[in-house]
Amino acid sequence: MNRHADLVVRGDVVMTMSDDPAVGDRIDDGAVVIQRDRIVAVTTADDAAQRFRATDQLGGPGSIVMPGLINGHQHLTGDRLLRSTIPDDLGLDLALERWALPSHAAHTGDMDELSATLSLIEGVTNGITFTVEAGTVAHPARVLDAYEAVGVGGTLGSWGWDVADGVHAGPVDEVIDRQRASIETAAGHDRVEGWVTLVGHDLMSDELVVRASELARSLGTRITFHMSPSTGDARSYRRRTGRRPLVHLAGLGALGEHVLVAHAVHIDDAEVDVLLDHDVAVASCPWAYLRLGQQVTGSFHHPRLLRHGGRIALGCDSENAGDAIDVLLAARLFAGLTKDTLGAPSAFSARRALGLATIDGARALGLDHEIGSLEVGKRADVVVVDATGPVWTPHADDPTTALVWAADGRSVRDVVASGRVVVRDGACETVDHRSLAAEAHQMHLTLVSKCGAHPRDQ
Ligand SMILES: [Zn+2]
Repeated sequence: MNRHADLVVRGDVVMTMSDDPAVGDRIDDGAVVIQRDRIVAVTTADDAAQRFRATDQLGGPGSIVMPGLINGHQHLTGDRLLRSTIPDDLGLDLALERWALPSHAAHTGDMDELSATLSLIEGVTNGITFTVEAGTVAHPARVLDAYEAVGVGGTLGSWGWDVADGVHAGPVDEVIDRQRASIETAAGHDRVEGWVTLVGHDLMSDELVVRASELARSLGTRITFHMSPSTGDARSYRRRTGRRPLVHLAGLGALGEHVLVAHAVHIDDAEVDVLLDHDVAVASCPWAYLRLGQQVTGSFHHPRLLRHGGRIALGCDSENAGDAIDVLLAARLFAGLTKDTLGAPSAFSARRALGLATIDGARALGLDHEIGSLEVGKRADVVVVDATGPVWTPHADDPTTALVWAADGRSVRDVVASGRVVVRDGACETVDHRSLAAEAHQMHLTLVSKCGAHPRDQ
């Protein structure tokens, strides 16, 4: 007797990315069966055909099926409408002062929604079905509208900093109230979670980070903030507290399993121990470190964190840092930096890099029960890779090496998010980015006019 299913996704290989030996790592000529927003079977194509009668089908011969990818750190607003406009040979301070901060300050609600929509479209066409917003949103409700329109999952937060001036800076009570409000905005949403999001660095007082961490704990959610992509934060904390940043935050009781720190690149041995001892997760954005010249190649502790059981997700950061919203590119660079740092090609595999983009990334976000692998009961976030293009001709029996080292998001053909086909034949079906192009260009010009670009920036 055939059961009804909404969608069956078939592939020459289904890469489940499951750690469960009963599920298995791969299924040849496999199928993922979806009912509403859930996976109801991961099996062979023959078995699926016998047991299920599907309304819709995706994939088939020449396809590789894998879980939706996870982007652990992404600024959904601010730089997106200045894509490839901020000079890439400008120092970070000037890039922030003249471009990124004026752009954020000038963002209207319409700009936040359009920025986030374009970012999420770009991400999902590259296979990303869940995004952690990095903590620089002025209009959270508008970003939630973008999540809903595109149809993917992620986290929602709001600007949070209370040290130094700035258009979004404020007293601690105000920042905490804003965080609570943005979490409430996402309450009850089935794909979007409200997180506490602070800018971090040295832009948070001890009182703010302690109360923000406690707010996340008390609401059963998580907190993310930036720390130590460069050596500046360590210098600043040493001046103020006499201690390294993560050692100081641990001393305040602000760290724990509910914390996702973006970067944590320039950290010392004691901070590595703090991250491991407190089970703090890290979002690693390798393209940002190279693009911004942050000397990651001499100070890459993330491989050591992994070796000792640390949790890491991959991130793409912002258009002034990582540029492309493509987690497969981040996975490739993370793998290369790890091999180089440890001085051995045997030190890290493409399989592990793909793990960071999927199930291990989900673990870093505390969401491995819900996303990151293709298993019965999980959210139906599924990617179909077209393995017939030039990059894939010919390809090995195990597609993992090609996925990480040869392909990138351009090989993604179809994407299912929460059971809904969001990308078909490479195009986003929920929102057509071409319909937004004229408005995006107009907003781009408005922002450029407000960014006070110095003639020598051009
Ligand atoms: Zn960031």
